[in-house]
Amino acid sequence: MLVMKFGGSSVADATQIKKVFEIVKGRLSRRPVVVSSAHKGVTNMLVDAGKKAAKGQADANHVIEKQRSVLKGCGCKPDMLDPFFRELEDLLRGISLVREVSTRSMDALMSFGERMSCRVIADYFTRLGIKSEAFDIWDLGFITDNHFGSARPLKGYEATFRKEFDRRVPKDVVPVITGFIGKTNEGEITTVGRNGSDFTGTLVAAALDAVECEIWTDTDGVMTADPSMIKEAKSIPQMSFAEASELAYYGGRVLHPSTLIPAVKRNIPVRVLNTNKPDHPGTVITESGGKPDKHATVTSIAYVEHQAVITLESPAMLGQPGFLAKVFDTLGRHKVDIDMISTSEVSVSMTCAEHDKLNEAVKELESMGRVTVTVERSIICVVGKNVQAQKGLGATVFTALRDANVNVEMISQGANKINLSLLVADDDIKKAIPALHKALFDA
Ligand code: ASP
Ligand code: MG
Repeated sequence: MLVMKFGGSSVADATQIKKVFEIVKGRLSRRPVVVSSAHKGVTNMLVDAGKKAAKGQADANHVIEKQRSVLKGCGCKPDMLDPFFRELEDLLRGISLVREVSTRSMDALMSFGERMSCRVIADYFTRLGIKSEAFDIWDLGFITDNHFGSARPLKGYEATFRKEFDRRVPKDVVPVITGFIGKTNEGEITTVGRNGSDFTGTLVAAALDAVECEIWTDTDGVMTADPSMIKEAKSIPQMSFAEASELAYYGGRVLHPSTLIPAVKRNIPVRVLNTNKPDHPGTVITESGGKPDKHATVTSIAYVEHQAVITLESPAMLGQPGFLAKVFDTLGRHKVDIDMISTSEVSVSMTCAEHDKLNEAVKELESMGRVTVTVERSIICVVGKNVQAQKGLGATVFTALRDANVNVEMISQGANKINLSLLVADDDIKKAIPALHKALFDA
């Protein structure tokens, strides 16, 4: 079995869905299982509609118009999605009455995108000659916890999924399964998090023990840098699970950060491909990453913006075992997720994403020493195999950044040998990434 996940841009409209049809048609002998996102833009429209409804204005028109244009383009029956439209309008009306949109109702609202797109795709496929059926993933046993907005399937979901899949999906049918969404045991709709369809793709691949999980997107696989910023960015033919996880986490912008977890667990190769260039080999992500480990190369540069740095200075740190434990305990209780850390004898600096709850954590930390918080920072992450062992890499990186007039405020080189992280100001990203890309890939 082959899991093929298509992202929002891949199923954006009838033109794109036609491309998807051809791609799936070419793989029928491999028993494709399709997992799909909503059409590009629809999830955002649903979020906006939810926010507007919370202010008292229930209006589903944007979403309905978009869906109608896709229906028309694909030649579907114009009233095919009417029950969904009615249900959506009811939900928005409900939200507008209570004037509040909880994460729970936001998940229910966002689920419409995938539920509708999968119906359209399956209908289109069937009429064009691939017998196909749409499935809401919960009908295949994908039951999650109730962490709305970042739900995870229940432990052991794989067996249930396999059983339901075998029971419900006829052998001669290509299933088109909703990405991104799930349901709790109590029947409440959840989502695995924004951009989470990739993650659903590998979760399904793991459950079905698929030979491979293809992630179809709009770039030539994983690139050496964000192609929207770096025109010269190149496709990376192969990479390891570890490298790709590091990249996904640091805003590689192709994969959802959790995508590789299920693939690693079952050792299922993940192949990132371009729907607009189906013959391009893309990137294949495997355990070994294809090359022998001693081969020292930089694979890619990623970055994540809007980070904050918390610095705690305290003479009490000196020779005091357990001090950092207290610091992390405090941050943990306030749900502050730390990425980079740098310590000296009397101070510790830690980065995390900027968010509102930081203030409370900082207030508590102030009882331990002097605390400063700097915001509008970015983490740049240079990922590769054996980054640690590459003599001169540090010199290349720092020279390039100095020449670009970028100040590096913090450095961390992971013991995992695959990443070198640097902290710079958000404003410097536009200078730093091109300079690094030139120094590391064009030399
Ligand atoms: N449609 C969802 C989103 O826009 C999930 C996805 O596309 O991966 O976040
Ligand atoms: Mg995506």
